[in-house]
Amino acid sequence: MEIESLIRKNIRELKPYRCARDEYEDMDAVFLDANESPFENGFNRYPDPYQRCLKFILADFKQVAAENVILGNGSDELIDLLIRSLCRPGIDNIIVFSPGYTMYEVCAAINDVEVRKINLTVNFLPDWRKVEQQRDCCTKIIFLCTPHNPVGNIIPLSDIENLCKVSDCMVVVDEAYIDFTDMPSAIGLLERYENLFVLQTLSKAWGMAGLRLGMGFANEKLIAVLNRVKPPYNIGVLAQQTAVRTLKDRDGFRNNVACIRRERERLLQAFLQSGIFEKVYPSEANFILVTSPQADELYRFLLRNGIVTRLRDIPPLLTGGIRITVGNREENDRLLGLLACWTNKLYPSE
Ligand SMILES: *Cc1c(COP(=O)(O)O)cnc(C)c1O
Repeated sequence: MEIESLIRKNIRELKPYRCARDEYEDMDAVFLDANESPFENGFNRYPDPYQRCLKFILADFKQVAAENVILGNGSDELIDLLIRSLCRPGIDNIIVFSPGYTMYEVCAAINDVEVRKINLTVNFLPDWRKVEQQRDCCTKIIFLCTPHNPVGNIIPLSDIENLCKVSDCMVVVDEAYIDFTDMPSAIGLLERYENLFVLQTLSKAWGMAGLRLGMGFANEKLIAVLNRVKPPYNIGVLAQQTAVRTLKDRDGFRNNVACIRRERERLLQAFLQSGIFEKVYPSEANFILVTSPQADELYRFLLRNGIVTRLRDIPPLLTGGIRITVGNREENDRLLGLLACWTNKLYPSE
């Protein structure tokens, strides 16, 4: 498969906006070319449009070349960039799964791209036969999410590899929660499959949701095209600098992830023992999905007592779901205390 054939003609032929400073970036010169303010304050100059310093660190960390990395203003910008660059409005389609992360279909709708939604199996895994039935020559992207939001389970890497092999469209693997699991990333498959795009983020395990930094890993030809489409200055100076600084603290990162994983296990056991829930799903992410026929009441009970969770009612497969993020020890203690109160209200000890 030729990756170029997946890209819209107008995008393939796009002449990108040339940043004022592309060729003189590293010169020690007086810059009177970009109409910036000359008064130094740390962010009076435009940022590096290719985020070279940050990408160098990330590429090294993820064991890929910098040419295989694109950064977005959150993963959401990369999802939009992909859909806009590959899918012809009113003609092409994407395949998504339900339940699932809804940003893919929102982005598609904004771009007037058809969404083919396939229900997961009862085990919340993609049904590959249904994918084959739904996929046609106008299918440009299949979006997978692993660990899955909102369930927290994993799609086997061998299934992902097989999908890349048999599909002549892009396979996007959204790994927003990959740092919370021991399962291997699909990044390892990039060398073999041009039609694979791996999406990660600094928003979750790295604790930088407020900075807005999403990472895309893919074949260098596709990355080069997306670089021409993205707004040149999509990542601000302060976000780039702060991420570079935060990424240096690998020990802090590992400690935080280990803490979340310990707390995840503690919550899981407590949820199971509470007897409150119909189902408690084991999770490879930093949240736990539970279900209950009283989901609405429980949700509102927690809310009244100052804890916000997320109701997930996505029939037919998921009804009465509540997705609960793993907080710090004190936050989780508070949650468990409230669940104990709830149990006592339903089942008085007398
Ligand atoms: C949280 C999340 C993201 C991250 O989005 P950002 O825009 O990078 O903050 C991406 N995909 C899924 C499935 C998520 O749950």
